[in-house]
Amino acid sequence: MNLQNLNQSKQDLIAKLQAVSSEADLEIFRLEYLSRQGSIAQLFETLKTLDGEQKRLVGPQLNELKKEIQQLFDDKKEKLFQQKIHAQEEKQKYFDVTISKPVAKGSLHPYTQITEQIQNIFISMGFAVADGPELETEFFNFTALNVAKDHPARQDSDTFWIDTQHLLRTQTSTVQIRTMQTQKPPIAIIAPGRTMRNEATDASHDFMFMQFEGMYIAEKVSISNLLATLKSFLTQLFEKEITIRVRPGYFPFVEPGLEIDASCPFCTGGCSVCKRTGWIELMGAGLIHPEVLKHGGIDPTKYSGFAFGFGLTRLTMLKYQIPDIRLLHSSNIQFLQQF
Ligand SMILES: [Zn+2]
Repeated sequence: MNLQNLNQSKQDLIAKLQAVSSEADLEIFRLEYLSRQGSIAQLFETLKTLDGEQKRLVGPQLNELKKEIQQLFDDKKEKLFQQKIHAQEEKQKYFDVTISKPVAKGSLHPYTQITEQIQNIFISMGFAVADGPELETEFFNFTALNVAKDHPARQDSDTFWIDTQHLLRTQTSTVQIRTMQTQKPPIAIIAPGRTMRNEATDASHDFMFMQFEGMYIAEKVSISNLLATLKSFLTQLFEKEITIRVRPGYFPFVEPGLEIDASCPFCTGGCSVCKRTGWIELMGAGLIHPEVLKHGGIDPTKYSGFAFGFGLTRLTMLKYQIPDIRLLHSSNIQFLQQF
């Protein structure tokens, strides 16, 4: 292209544009002629070098050419776009929404089912569901819970230490302290969650298991409040009247500490689940130790509280009569399909 025969150049460009039939070719045309480095821009550069008389003669022609080609280019672009949309619409016309592939139906994991059931019972009694991190600090897992510096639970053989300050939580009681630090009494929470212990695996032990924690803090909370709450919970969970039995127990974070047994929900005179005793050991509980309340920033002279915790894994195995903990954690579809 040159400035001497602009008319011919224009006719050539129009013909080229008419021949373009795809967006890709249109882009090539743009780069070649209409972009900043394109031929038309170069003609404008050449125009600058002409003397005044010639400039006045050729300038308007070149402007006219540029305007016209740009307009034809825009029209072409719009036309190609419309063609594309139209083609897509045509394709969708023949899309049959009634054709579907069979979808495999799943079911909720026993953990999920029982957790939801327990949560619903406690929510109906006014408890809220709380959560906490699985990677914990030594403070929340041990110190704040009144576990002595030399307690064996702190050792590597029982605990997965990440470094000297961090560990995988060995109990859900960590959530108690975290909740106390962020809420003011009255506090009523439950905290289901994963816990990890450095244990060898067998039919009833795994390095990971689920726990369920509960806590209530207010003025003048007593053992009677604890026992009434647990009895009501167990009766609703097993859908039959449950009697509870209380034995003294030691846990560093409660005082006094209690072991709670429930009358066997599966029999009336003894069965294999209760080992023919009629009782099932279910959980640890007690009134929250004043030191623990202090660590949570709560005044033990004004408030008291109860806490309880049980193995959700164990309860799930009991309720569904699952003989081996490894089945529960195996992701074995055949096993899980039963629930
Ligand atoms: Zn029994």
